[in-house]
Amino acid sequence: LLGIAAPVVAQPTASPAPRPRVHVLATGGTISNLGDAKRRTGMELVDGIAGLREMATITVEQFRNVPSGSITHDDWRGIADRIRQLQTGPDAPAGFIITHGTDTMEETAYFLSLTVGGCEPVILTGAMRPANAVGADGPANLRNAVRAAIAPASRGRGAMLLMNDEIFAARDVTKSNTTRLNAFTAPDAGVLGLADPDTVVYHRPMPAACPAPRFDLASVDAFPRVDVVY
Ligand code: GLU
Repeated sequence: LLGIAAPVVAQPTASPAPRPRVHVLATGGTISNLGDAKRRTGMELVDGIAGLREMATITVEQFRNVPSGSITHDDWRGIADRIRQLQTGPDAPAGFIITHGTDTMEETAYFLSLTVGGCEPVILTGAMRPANAVGADGPANLRNAVRAAIAPASRGRGAMLLMNDEIFAARDVTKSNTTRLNAFTAPDAGVLGLADPDTVVYHRPMPAACPAPRFDLASVDAFPRVDVVY
């Protein structure tokens, strides 16, 4: 028997599982900044990361390409509306990524955490070092954001901010340093999760159900005006 070759049985080729889809809304920020008023597009950011398109089917939309101090309330609504539209359309993405400048990233994240519900995580990411800097952090952050956007453990957690391998809940996070790669902290609640080399891990349990939006933008016309006197 030892001398007899085992018959070769043709195995039906298993068709590979379809890659989860991630939709990127690119808004600008340091992650796109090349200096001299030049900026990379969201598509260029995605295409610049080897192997990223093997991890997920990535669709990219250039929403804006500005420093985040130029993001307006209308932009907030536009981003929230677009996410909600894609969530309810055919072939809804598994998750969303917003590339964004860091100066107002926490504000956009918090707004989205209040106005977008559903199972699909919304990951905001960016960079502390410009796109053409030595040791630019944008590519690693964007790659981690894709990993987090497709991770089953991210589902139902809403809007989160991912920078420097750390994941924060939108309502906890604040920018606390203007230059370091670990620019974001959550002073009261701590880090929500980590994009470790081998896995995306969270320190708090998954929500029992995917949340409904806290505020329904469809029923809000203009935002009420609030004046601040310094
Ligand atoms: N930190 C700035 C921001 O939040 C960077 C501006 C830029 O380089 O585009 O957008």
